[in-house]
This record gives sequence, C-alpha cells and structure tokens, in this order.
Amino acid sequence: MTVDFKVIIVGRGMMGAAAARHLSGMIEGVALIGPSEPIERKSHHGVFASHYDEARITRTFDDNMVWATLATRSLDRYRDIEAKSGISFFSEAGCLFAGPPPQPGQGYLGRALQISEALDLDVETLTPAALRDRFPQFAIDPSFNGYFEARRAGHVNPRALVRAQTRLAEQGGVTVIDATVASVCDEGAFVEVHAGGTRYTAERVLVAAGGFSNFGDLLPAPVDIRVAARTVAFFELGDREMSVFANMPSAIVFGERDEDHVYILPPVRYPDGKTYLKLGGDLETRSFKTLEDVGAWFRSDGDPAERDLLVSTALQLMPSLAGCPTSSAPCVASFTASAYPYVGYTDSPRIAVLTGGNFVAAKSSDELGRLGAVVMTQGWLGAEDFGRELTPIFR
Ligand SMILES: Cc1cc2nc3c(=O)[nH]c(=O)nc-3n(C[C@H](O)[C@H](O)[C@H](O)COP(=O)(O)OP(=O)(O)OC[C@H]3O[C@@H](n4cnc5c(N)ncnc54)[C@H](O)[C@@H]3O)c2cc1C
Repeated sequence: MTVDFKVIIVGRGMMGAAAARHLSGMIEGVALIGPSEPIERKSHHGVFASHYDEARITRTFDDNMVWATLATRSLDRYRDIEAKSGISFFSEAGCLFAGPPPQPGQGYLGRALQISEALDLDVETLTPAALRDRFPQFAIDPSFNGYFEARRAGHVNPRALVRAQTRLAEQGGVTVIDATVASVCDEGAFVEVHAGGTRYTAERVLVAAGGFSNFGDLLPAPVDIRVAARTVAFFELGDREMSVFANMPSAIVFGERDEDHVYILPPVRYPDGKTYLKLGGDLETRSFKTLEDVGAWFRSDGDPAERDLLVSTALQLMPSLAGCPTSSAPCVASFTASAYPYVGYTDSPRIAVLTGGNFVAAKSSDELGRLGAVVMTQGWLGAEDFGRELTPIFR
C-alpha cells in the first residue's frame, strides 16, 4: 500500500523539531505534526509544552557522562543552526555553579568535576573569595566555591530554537502540519495517525510529545515517566536592577543538599517587552496522571507556596532584587525511570518514542533529535549513541 509519509513525527517541540531537521538530511517523506503554542494559555483546553519560555540554561558541566556528552554534541551545532536558519537562540552568558567544596567524586559537584576533567571541559574553580569578587551581584554562602564555564554555556531561547529547527526541517523538505494528534495506531503494514480531523499514514512514527506522550492514544503502551509540576518565579527588572544583574551568567546554586539547589536565568527580554530574571527549583512533588489535571496546571500560575519559597530564596541570594514586582508560571518536567531520556521502539516495530527530558534536556535537544532520527532510519542506537542507557522503559 502507498503511505502518505515514510516517517511522521508527533510533537513539534524541542526534541521533535530537532528530529525532523536531522531526518530531513537523511530521508525524504517526513512529516512533523504538532500544534503551535496556544495564544491564550489560560483559556486553552488542548495540549501544552515544556518549552513555552524564553530561556533555558545550557552548559556542559554535568555530573553524568551521558548528559554531559548529549549537551556537548548539541552545543557543537548551535552556531551552525543559527547561521543556517537565520534565527539566533544561544546567549553565551556563561554558567556558574556554586556549592560547598566537594570531596572528589562525591555529590553532584564532585562527580561533575571528575567528568569535566575526563571531557577536558573549560571550567574554572573559584575560591569563596574569588567567587565574591567575580560575581558581586550574589550573596552566596561565604564557604561556597564557584565552578564557572565562561564559554559554551549560558542560555538558549527554547521557543527560538524550536523555530530554527522547524524552519530548517521545512527547508529540507519536511511537511509541517499544525494539528494535535488524537491517535497513533499500528495497522500491521503501516501506521495510521489521526490529527485535526485528518487521517495520515506512514511507514513509521516517532512520538515526541514531551510530558503529553502518555495522554491520548499516542503509544501502544505508556512509557514509564512521571510528569511533575514545576513552578518558576519571575522578577521584573527596572534600570536599577539591570545595572546590577545585566552581565550575570546563568547560575545553579546548591543548598545544604544537592536537591535543594535553585537555578537562575539572567535578565532576558520577554514578548511583553519587559525584562525578567527567572528562578526555579527541583523539589515539587506533585505529578499528573491525566490530561485534565495537567491542563488545569498549565492554565494556573503554578504553586503559590513554591513561588513564595523561590522569591525568598532569590532575595537571600540576590538582595538587590528587593522591591521588584514578581510573578510565577507553571511547567512540567518528565522524569524517566532510568533518569535518561527514552529513544527507541515500543512493542511495535513501526512506532518509536523520543521523550523524557528529566528537567534538563532543552540544551541537549538537538542531539536527542539526531538520535531519534538515527532510530527511525537505522532502527537502533549503538554504544557510541548510548543505546543501552536510552532504551525506553514501558509500564
Ligand atoms: C520550568 C522548567 C525549566 C527548565 N529549565 C531547563 C534548563 O534550564 N535547561 C535545560 O536544558 N532544560 C530545562 N528544562 C527542560 C526542557 O524544557 C525539556 O526537557 C524540553 O522542553 C523537553 O523537550 P520535549 O521535546 O520532550 O518536550 P516539549 O518541548 O514539551 O515538546 C513536546 C511537544 O509535543 C507536542 N504535543 C503534545 N501532545 C501532542 C499531541 N497529542 N499531538 C501533537 N503534538 C503534541 C507539544 O505541543 C509540544 O510542542 C526545563 C523544564 C521546565 C519545565
């Protein structure tokens, strides 16, 4: 039978758009199906995404070799994607980690230092005194060291990166369809995809629907992910605060325990014309099992208690923020059972999955997209592409 496409990618987000760009250089007959960002978040009753924002931290310093390599390979291609698409998305503002001096190989920072040595990353260690001198905008615990990546780190604009990937995919011949997929069904010799009231057929389908991959009939069996609530706090900056924070790097500051860390994005101009400094953490425990619940979360302003905690932490770490108007927003992070993204086939030899960002995959989405494209063409990932680590786990 003749099918409409060789491969349909479901999900026009960070991983799906990247997969489409990479596939466009490998085969013909690719479609990328997913909805655009809703214009009115608070009255939208469809699916959402984890990239509806203007800034995500990027860095190669990481406590895990797989994640550090995925980030490194992606960073190697940022400038080329910008040049070819004409869309800039990478701000090389640098990335600072701050925390208690670690024992070698112990805790996040101890492991990350070992990996940065193994990968020969350019990370400068700052003593507590040097940390204070170099970054006077922070009031960090006086016993903390700094670990600073000045180059190949900073932040990416996730919306702009998705736009760049989609533009290059289209230029490479990918058919982009603005619709939400209602179902994906293996019909034996081909796969049937229903989206926006239309039926499409393909030889194979890659489901890259982020935290929404288990909602709806997209996969033959659910992937083992926990779709967790995350709240971010925004500080609206005026001229006074800009004079203090304009040149700060992205930052991740640990508390007493690794999991108490906060991440901070430097001032970024948002579509409303205002400039915000953003802060988030990793402790929220609420998670979502239905589209209704996750939709209601995306229509909210996040968790007020988490927002208050983030605001008070921010004021301790950056006292010059006092008096700035604050606001908050919701997002979801998809945590996998393996703590790695999932890139591989389901029970069906025609339906694969690419998801599970674990709260840190924006920076690495280009390489994850490439791996999705390799799975769709080659059928599997080799050891150099972390095939074992990235094997999907299903419920
Ligand atoms: C608050 C927050 C802060 C973060 N900070 C960082 C950071 O600093 N650095 C970093 O590297 N990472 C960060 N991340 C993680 C990063 O944003 C995610 O890992 C990344 O967006 C995941 O990409 P994805 O393609 O899997 O999902 P998404 O980007 O969410 O894309 C999924 C796409 O699927 C589409 N979709 C869903 N359902 C359907 C359907 N039925 N039919 C068709 N399309 C569908 C959606 O519309 C969406 O476009 C953060 C995440 C959050 C929530």
